[in-house]
Amino acid sequence: MSDCIFCRLAAKEVPADILYEDEECMAFRDIFPKAKVHYLIIPKVHLANLDALEPQHSALLGRLMLLVPKIAKSLGLSDGYRTLINTGPGSGQEVYHLHIHLLSNKGGGKLPGF
Ligand code: 5GP
Ligand code: ZN
Repeated sequence: MSDCIFCRLAAKEVPADILYEDEECMAFRDIFPKAKVHYLIIPKVHLANLDALEPQHSALLGRLMLLVPKIAKSLGLSDGYRTLINTGPGSGQEVYHLHIHLLSNKGGGKLPGF
């Protein structure tokens, strides 16, 4: 989708601080971090949010979720981390391209949310 910022980011049409990339997924730093460490993990294919998922996406979702601990480990988040997925206006979703927030203060300070 040409008007989707994360599609444009995945297509390298806009710059990002990319930490990980493969054929289907990407992880990059959130431009307005809400914690000391704040990354977004996305599928490259455009899916608006969890409500857009179909059974055919199960393998892709599995790969996305399996990336989370891999990326957390590469960032040295041995103390733990928080993941968050917003879905729809009531959640505060701002970018309508599925993304997993990965947040950590590396043991120092409270994280946003509950
Ligand atoms: P949401 O509220 O949709 O779950 O979160 C969207 C996140 O995307 C926000 O934390 C926001 O800071 C981040 N974001 C929005 N636009 C950009 C961008 O152009 N580049 C990057 N790296 N992050 C973005
Ligand atoms: Zn998109």
